[in-house]
Amino acid sequence: MKILLCDLDGTVRKPISNNIFINSPTDQEIIPKARVAIQGAVASGFLVIGVTNQGGINAGYKNLKNCLLEQRITMQLLPLMSCIYAAIDDDECWCISQGPNWSFRFPTWLNLPWRYSIYKGMGENPKYNWLDGFRKPNPGMLQLAIAKEVLRKSDGLLGGIATAIEYVIQRRGDWEVYMTGDRIEDEQAAIAARTVGVEFIKLEDFYSGKFLKEAIA
Ligand SMILES: [Mg+2]
Repeated sequence: MKILLCDLDGTVRKPISNNIFINSPTDQEIIPKARVAIQGAVASGFLVIGVTNQGGINAGYKNLKNCLLEQRITMQLLPLMSCIYAAIDDDECWCISQGPNWSFRFPTWLNLPWRYSIYKGMGENPKYNWLDGFRKPNPGMLQLAIAKEVLRKSDGLLGGIATAIEYVIQRRGDWEVYMTGDRIEDEQAAIAARTVGVEFIKLEDFYSGKFLKEAIA
């Protein structure tokens, strides 16, 4: 299994306007160098997953609906990205992917064919006590993304996310997981997620495809 975790803002996408942050879902474009790098990664067998801090909701710059729409538009602009995890804070993380929305619990604007899953952290559910906070520089969002992929591939052989994390820690040499991003908290999250096999790659090595040569070698 080969996974490439990508920070989004300033790494994969940027505002079209002169704003520093994407505060309106349509105010975004894919950074050309990132598109090329992701094409190379997918061609080399990597699953590419976005991992984004979305503190703008609690800070009052956007609402949840616009935040989820923003991630959906990124995936429409970049269909090679398989899904996006968005950390609202340390205790709440959403996953946006293509596929049927299985749950009736979500409001109607969360419609087919997009799937939205919400994960609650340690504050809400003792079941998830083993997960670290979702918000980078904490490694919880990275752990969750990897565990979900391991679960997806296990055909139900592994029980839940906690078991999957244990399995990943024991067998972390069995797959390659890279993380890239433009900020120190991306690198810190990757370092904190070393126990699940994550290795940080610098932004320039991601754009140049240098990490792919190292991965193959
Ligand atoms: Mg960034």
